[in-house]
Parts: sequence; C-alpha cells; structure tokens
Amino acid sequence: MVHVVIIGAGIGGLPTAYELRRLLPKSHRITLISDNPKFTFIPSLPWVTFDLTPLENIQIDIEHLLWRRGIDWVEGKVTNFDPHAQTLYISGKNIPGKTIHYDYAVSAAIYLCVALYRLHYK
Ligand SMILES: Cc1cc2nc3c(=O)[nH]c(=O)nc-3n(C[C@H](O)[C@H](O)[C@H](O)COP(=O)(O)OP(=O)(O)OC[C@H]3O[C@@H](n4cnc5c(N)ncnc54)[C@H](O)[C@@H]3O)c2cc1C
Repeated sequence: MVHVVIIGAGIGGLPTAYELRRLLPKSHRITLISDNPKFTFIPSLPWVTFDLTPLENIQIDIEHLLWRRGIDWVEGKVTNFDPHAQTLYISGKNIPGKTIHYDYAVSAAIYLCVALYRLHYK
C-alpha cells in the first residue's frame, strides 16, 4: 500500500486526485490537501466580478466531491515538508501541528512549490 498526497485542490490538484484514484488499485491511499474547503472554477471569476453570476455558482464543496470516491480529504495549509522523512507539516484551525507521512507527493500549489524549493534547495 502506498500513500499519495496531492497538495492543492484547484484545476490542477482535483483532477489529479480523480485520475490517480481511477488508475491506482483501491489498496493505495490518496489524500487531497488544500487550505480552501471549496473548489473554485477560476476561469469563471470574471463573471462574478461583473456581477453576472454569484460566487457560489462557480464553487463547490470539496469534501462533498470526495467522500464517495475513496479519496481522503484534509483541509489545512501545508507549511513545510521534509523530503527525507517524507513528511508534510500542515496547519489549520482544527489541526494545529499536524503531520502526514507520504510515499509520493504531488504539489499542485505553485507558490508552495516555489517557497519550498527556495527553502530546501537554495
Ligand atoms: C480570469 C481567468 C481566466 C482563465 N481562463 C483560462 C482558460 O480559459 N483556460 C486555461 O487553461 N486557463 C485559464 N486560466 C488559468 C487557470 O485558471 C489556472 O491556470 C488554473 O486555475 C491553475 O490551477 P492550479 O490548480 O494550478 O492552481 P490554483 O487554482 O491556484 O489552485 C491551487 C490550490 O492550492 C491551494 N493551496 C495553495 N497553497 C497551499 C498550501 N500551502 N497548502 C494547501 N493548499 C494550498 C489553494 O487554496 C488552491 O485551492 C484563467 C485564469 C484566470 C484568472
């Protein structure tokens, strides 16, 4: 059994979680982590800006999308990771100081990638 974590539940992260769930045997665990409980369809934001549709029309609760698909959900902000220990550090309102161990990690949160790259490799 391997544990794959995906950080970020935007247009990149959410389909990645779906595809990995489709491709990997059920014995492998997939966890999606994001600091926002809602998926927002970003390309439609101008409609919201110009008052052509309410924000709720382009958002959906992520937990609701995942519960029947066999993908675990963690709402929290990834603040650091230890690539040698394969551990992510996550903070959030209800999860102060949580750590998650992973076998494989996918980052679909670009600013996090840049920050962690600078922290660990520069
Ligand atoms: C107005 C507009 C129109 C667009 N139109 C198109 C289009 O027509 N076609 C097209 O291909 N692209 C379009 N784009 C670009 C497209 O929307 C983006 O490329 C896409 O949303 C990027 O998705 P992403 O998942 O990589 O990042 P994001 O959508 O930024 O998602 C990242 C997720 O990671 C979470 N996150 C960030 N940091 C952390 C952390 N430290 N811990 C946990 N979670 C974290 C965020 O909350 C977010 O949910 C458009 C963009 C805009 C603004």
